[in-house]
Order: sequence, then C-alpha cells, then structure tokens
Amino acid sequence: MRVTVLGAGTMGHGIAQIAAQAGNAVTIRDIDNAILEDGLDAIESNLQGGVDRGKVSQEEKATTLDRIGTTTDLEEAVDGADLVIEAVPEDLGIKHDTFEEVKAAAPEEAVLASNTSSLSVTEIASVLDRPGRAIGLHFFNPVHIMGLVEIVVAEQTDEATVAFAEGFVEEIGKEPVTVRDSAGFASSRLGVALGVEAVRMLETGVAGPRAIDRAMELGYNHPMGPIELTDVVGLDVRLDILEYLQEELGERFRPPQLLRQKVRAGKLGRKSGEGFYVWDEGEVVGVSGDLEGGR
Ligand code: NAD
Repeated sequence: MRVTVLGAGTMGHGIAQIAAQAGNAVTIRDIDNAILEDGLDAIESNLQGGVDRGKVSQEEKATTLDRIGTTTDLEEAVDGADLVIEAVPEDLGIKHDTFEEVKAAAPEEAVLASNTSSLSVTEIASVLDRPGRAIGLHFFNPVHIMGLVEIVVAEQTDEATVAFAEGFVEEIGKEPVTVRDSAGFASSRLGVALGVEAVRMLETGVAGPRAIDRAMELGYNHPMGPIELTDVVGLDVRLDILEYLQEELGERFRPPQLLRQKVRAGKLGRKSGEGFYVWDEGEVVGVSGDLEGGR
C-alpha cells in the first residue's frame, strides 16, 4: 500500500516510521527540505534505538528507511496514494487548506485521515466533495512506542472507510479504539476530566500534588499521576483544551483559577522548569512552593 504523511514534525515522522516498518511505501511531505531531513534523522535514531535494545534488526532498519521517500511537492507526495494522513499544525484553516489541496491531487478513492487531537473531524472533512472517505486517525506521542490509535468517525464517514482504517491500524501493530467524532474524543475527554478534578483538589487543599498522584499511581495503577501528567503535557496546552471542552461540553470542564494563574506566571510544567512540580533535566525535583502541604 502507498501511504502519504503530510507534515514531518513530532507526529508525522513517527507515523511515517511505523507505516514503513509494516511494509508500506511511504512518502512524507513537508514545506521545507530541512524539516524533512530532521524528520528522517529522527526516524533513523528511533530505529537505531530499537536496534540497540535488540527489538529491531539491522536489516529491518535498512528496509524501513528504504521504503520512505520525502518531497516538498504535494502533487508528487499524494500521487498513487491509498491513504493520506495529515499531521500538519493544529489549526482548522491549515487543515482545510491541506484537505483542499489533497482533494485536487490525490486519487479519488484514497482515504484521507487527520491526526488532529482536538478539532472536529466532521468540520475538517466538510471541504471534501466526497467526505465519506475522511476519518480521524489519532496517534499518540511518541508514535513508535504508544500502542493506541483512536479512530474518529466523522458525521460523514462511510463504513468502508471505517473498516479500512481499522485494518490499517491493526496492520501497523497498534490497537484501534473507534469513537464517534465529539469534542475531546474518548481519550482526551477522560484524561482531561481526571486532570481538572485533580487541580481542583489542589486548589481546595484536599491534598498536595504528591499525595494526589500517588493515590492514582498506587490505587489505580496509573503509570503517572494526573498532576505530574499535566506538568508533562504543559499547563498552557491543558488550558487551551479545557477552554475548548468547556465551550463544547459545559461547565464541568471550566478551567480552575489555579491553572490560569500558573499559566499567567509562565509556570507551564516540565518544559518551563516549573508547574505544579519543580523540574530539572526532565525529572521532578520538588513541589512548586505554594503547593506544599495540603489537606
Ligand atoms: P509539529 O509542529 O511538530 O509538526 C507539524 C509539521 O507540519 C511541521 O513540520 C510543519 O512544517 C508542517 N507543515 C505545516 N504546514 C504544512 C503543510 N501545508 N503541508 C505539510 N506540512 C506542513 O506538530 P505535531 O505535534 O506533529 O502535530 C501535528 C498534528 O498532530 C496536530 O494536529 C496535533 O494536534 C496532532 N497531535 C499531536 C500530538 C503531540 O503530542 N504532539 C499528539 C496527537 C496528535
């Protein structure tokens, strides 16, 4: 099968890698050759990591890289494609422009997938003449490690497209979870609901961050507690998602004042060195000063 991936960033290069590892011919398209080079370097380094851990053979690494081509030309990228997956920035205007271009250049029967993590796939698909072939394929970061792909069925998606997408996800060795297009899909909606309640518990002094996180790690077997996960995702990213979910789904997603204050103070989590925890070189080294204590 021929798979085209639009965007060679964080998600695009990972999607291209696993599609090629499963034996597909893959073309990655980005707007700039330097970004494509970086994407290929990242794939090479992921595969080398697999070789070092004994999970990927030298031969598999070489054949995977051989199956991947790159281009900045959209028409060339989608030529003969069976599946086009867009992983361009999370902006409805860019997604619409991308689908418009793909509609004009890709084979009529190609399935067109969006890796959006929050936008309405129904709205993205609305620019197509045949929107029945559009679907959401929501991969998780890092793509080559995470086992889940959420398949998002838009209002217009036809059953043949759903079956095709489920088959593809299984073929690349991931587990599909199929959901109807709705704000936050299944994964973000539930993950964010837990995170927002945890921040409200901090705000009202129920417990400190470590107590809340340990409760979920040890009591519910979560690999990482909801407060630490919010720091890892980025408090600003969480705030954006909450504002969107509040608009779409109601007051239960209203962003807590504590989260807004942290974002205003530039305390964005791991990436800025402090959020609810204090971070050093990617590791938690303490609790953010104002949050010690609790109860
Ligand atoms: P990114 O910024 O790392 O990559 C986007 C890439 O798209 C960039 O390399 C950019 O140059 C390129 N681009 C811009 N316009 C383009 C065009 N017209 N054609 C081709 N390439 C173009 O972003 P990302 O984190 O990889 O996110 C991509 C998508 O995946 C977004 O919709 C995002 O919401 C979604 N997503 C991200 C994550 C995550 O954890 N980063 C997880 C799940 C889904």
